[in-house]
Amino acid sequence: MPEALVSRITASDPRCAETWDSPVTVVRNVDARRAEALGRLGIHTIGDLLTHYPFRYLDLSAVRPVREAPLGSEATIVGTVADVRVKQPRPRLSVTEIAVADDTGVVVGVWFNQPYIAQRYEVGDRVAMAGTMELDYGLKQMKNPFLERLGAAGTPVVLGRILPVYRTTEGLSTNWLRRIVESAVLEFAHVPDPLPSGLRARRDLPPLKWAVRAIHLPRSSEDIEVARRRLAYQEHFDLQLVVATRRHARLASTTAVAHTVDGARVEALRRALPFPLTDDQERAVSEILADMAAARPMNRLLLGDVGSGKTVVAAFALAAAADTHAQAAMMAPTEVLAEQYTRALGPLLEKAGVPWALLTGSTPRAERSRILAQAASGELAVVFGTHALIQRDVRFSRLTLVVVDEQHRFGVEQRLGLRGKGGAVTPDLLVMTATPIPRSLALTLYGDLDASYLTTRPGSRGPGHVVTRIVPRTGRADAYERVRSAVRAGRQAYVICALVEESDSAEARAATREAHRLQTSVFPDLRVGLLTGRMRPAEKRAVMEDFRAGKIDVLVSTTVVEVGVDVPNATVMIVENGERYGLAQLHQLRGRIGRGEHPGEFLVFADPRTEEGRRRMQAIAETSDGFALAEADLRLRGEGDIAGVRQSGLPPFKIASFAGQEDLLALAREDARASVDADPTLASPEHALLRARLRALQTGRTVVDSG
Ligand code: ADP
Ligand code: MG
Repeated sequence: MPEALVSRITASDPRCAETWDSPVTVVRNVDARRAEALGRLGIHTIGDLLTHYPFRYLDLSAVRPVREAPLGSEATIVGTVADVRVKQPRPRLSVTEIAVADDTGVVVGVWFNQPYIAQRYEVGDRVAMAGTMELDYGLKQMKNPFLERLGAAGTPVVLGRILPVYRTTEGLSTNWLRRIVESAVLEFAHVPDPLPSGLRARRDLPPLKWAVRAIHLPRSSEDIEVARRRLAYQEHFDLQLVVATRRHARLASTTAVAHTVDGARVEALRRALPFPLTDDQERAVSEILADMAAARPMNRLLLGDVGSGKTVVAAFALAAAADTHAQAAMMAPTEVLAEQYTRALGPLLEKAGVPWALLTGSTPRAERSRILAQAASGELAVVFGTHALIQRDVRFSRLTLVVVDEQHRFGVEQRLGLRGKGGAVTPDLLVMTATPIPRSLALTLYGDLDASYLTTRPGSRGPGHVVTRIVPRTGRADAYERVRSAVRAGRQAYVICALVEESDSAEARAATREAHRLQTSVFPDLRVGLLTGRMRPAEKRAVMEDFRAGKIDVLVSTTVVEVGVDVPNATVMIVENGERYGLAQLHQLRGRIGRGEHPGEFLVFADPRTEEGRRRMQAIAETSDGFALAEADLRLRGEGDIAGVRQSGLPPFKIASFAGQEDLLALAREDARASVDADPTLASPEHALLRARLRALQTGRTVVDSG
């Protein structure tokens, strides 16, 4: 860090901490009218102004001769004003043109509807002009460039400086905003740093006040990077501090059972497995068992791409509960999925000596009574099920583990509902999700959960196992031909129907129509089946059974197959209206094919009308890694769009990002946790400012206020 700059910063003014919450009108030259304009940018306080970070910079320290400035890129030139004129080509359009010449050539700066600019400059003025160099009818020009008069001496104050460029609004010129921010920085940026100095030293972070100053008034591009990192770290740290505090409160206030994790059933399960676990699975199992062995409640998220083998990992947790003479409940969002658990895990659990049952909305009454009795007596060690598990009359004698799959489909209340059945002890919680949430977001949204990742797929089916193609309108016939040839080879196919915004029933109607159309006019010789979310569970089950048994060649479905259908013989999937789906959803759908030995084809009918849509389609075609896709999704949509972030109640980022800052986030998380673990109430003197900041964060005050 540039030491000279640091030492130039004056000692902190006791007034300062308070002033970050003061209205912007305390800044010199900000009158009511301008304060109103600033308000439109969301700037109301000094803190808002100081955190209105530049979105780019003009580097006046790298001046180029006109002739050498490359077209299409940003350049700064220094020269003399050779001509100033304002044209009025149409009644409501004025064009200001200022020609600037140096020894090598001429560039014309062009501004629209800003005639006042012409009044500020005269022929002969020495100026610096910065913008994107373009060629227009043979003339070099810059549209809306930044223009600034240089001092008489020719070596002006401004030269050698990097000028910040801010998002602005009508009635606020860039120049004016720049000056206002500069005044505010000089007068109010001397905030004390909330981070303990030891922590800052360890992470090589400059003081906050240095960063606030450097982001707005950088001396070099290195300054900008250092400042950006410091400020982004602070935002990540703020979030993680809130999260760490919540986590600590949870751990401190509850007791859980310390499970036996090396018992006979866990061992028997391991022996019963028909395959060795992958390294990722091994790691996840040991992380989960270590949590379960502790007397504090586990809160763990098991993240794994579709087909990564989460289910069998969960089985180890179930077996550990049984070894502890306790009980586990495993809840799925659909009956189809709950049944799939029992198919996958039932036989293994039986071999391991773990008694289990399945409880869903369609469990016959008599069987249900028996299951309830056995759950209440403790006879059953594991109960699989759907929402039916949450019902009031479902009781356990000693529930110490809750496994929830596809957790984004359950509300918090439902999760808590099931967990609440543990009575005085808090059951350990394992949440599994196949939605590849980017790690960075997972750490924040589920920040008080620990995370285990399954990043590899068992079996050696490489990424080329499923080929993805975006199919234009003209490619339909070919795509149907792919289905036909797959069926000829003994395989099966899905056709996923238009995702319709309006309603389930509209979606079901669309699928029904499509199934009819395909059966009558496209595949009259094949067996076409239909599955929609509107069908009764028994009907759905029958259709799934027929598909699994090979009695259906082409299954037309709404997105109900998205979750947990496992038919290895299905190798082709067509998705209608692909552009309407999010990347995560498409990826989930894709995970349903190529599950067996035969390679798969994922054919997305799409007609994207927006640039974002086109990029999304490109991403799904090029990327088979779910986590990479999730990161891409994040970048394409921007984090503001991510529901979880908006609902988290935490302040939005101004400079930090969930995309591309995983390392910084991980550091901030580790540090926030360490601070809270070492000093839960942040009572030590070195944490005094941190404590105040946390209070501010929790009560929704200005984040930046270090007061
Ligand atoms: P997920 O729930 O993560 O989508 P599953 O648990 O359903 O994945 O597993 C997908 C398939 O892979 C299942 O058929 C499962 O039996 C199989 N499987 C899981 N782990 C392994 C492994 N280590 N080796 C081979 N096959 C595995
Ligand atoms: Mg699964």
